[in-house]
Amino acid sequence: MIGITTPQQSPDGLQAAAMRQAYVSAIIQAGGLPVLISSALPEAEWQGLYRRLEGILFSGGGDIALERFAGQPHPEVYGVDEGRDAFEVALVRAAAESGTPFLGICRGLQLVNVALGGTLYTHILDQAPNALDHSYENPEVMIECTHLVHPVQIEAGSRIGEIIDGILPLQVNSLHHQGIKDLAPGLRPTAFAPDGIIEAVELPGHPFGLAVQWHPEWLTGQEHTRRLFKAFVDAAHARQ
Ligand code: MN
Repeated sequence: MIGITTPQQSPDGLQAAAMRQAYVSAIIQAGGLPVLISSALPEAEWQGLYRRLEGILFSGGGDIALERFAGQPHPEVYGVDEGRDAFEVALVRAAAESGTPFLGICRGLQLVNVALGGTLYTHILDQAPNALDHSYENPEVMIECTHLVHPVQIEAGSRIGEIIDGILPLQVNSLHHQGIKDLAPGLRPTAFAPDGIIEAVELPGHPFGLAVQWHPEWLTGQEHTRRLFKAFVDAAHARQ
């Protein structure tokens, strides 16, 4: 049973607990049972659900509230949902502490970093030295979600390096305008874009604590991506 985090609003602005099918399908394809988690669950309820989950997927979405990491205000900051932030930060800390396998994707990577004490560039293009444009996105043209924008160099001896085994460097999509600035204590950076932006992190010593800045759920046609989801679901099975 893999919990998938969700925003509190759908794009039409109504309250919702929904997530794109690509995440759900990727977990099913890897042999997992996906369960959407509402960010509006009161703490007593989420603790009960949390105990039954074998893994948590921290999904993509809007930006994290700047107050959580003393971030620099920027006009491109969008989609902040403080209730979702609070819920997910608690969930990251619980999963990090108790050894529940987790996979962070895009916002999920940024969330893991902030929850464990790191900071973010609030708009990479204006703040990181010599930055590439990582925000290759147009919600009207979903085909762009599968467009491979830049390579990532995977660190030798990392968990993700073991999982994707030999497919180096990796070409990935890139649908983010924020990224890790100061890495959280305890996290290891395990993949980098050509401009030095951190594209994957892991929590050493954790059964499966891994996050990527790209969107593998759109790339399940690729062998390395299927291996990533399979490794996550297998780690959750092992936890049962
Ligand atoms: Mn990128």
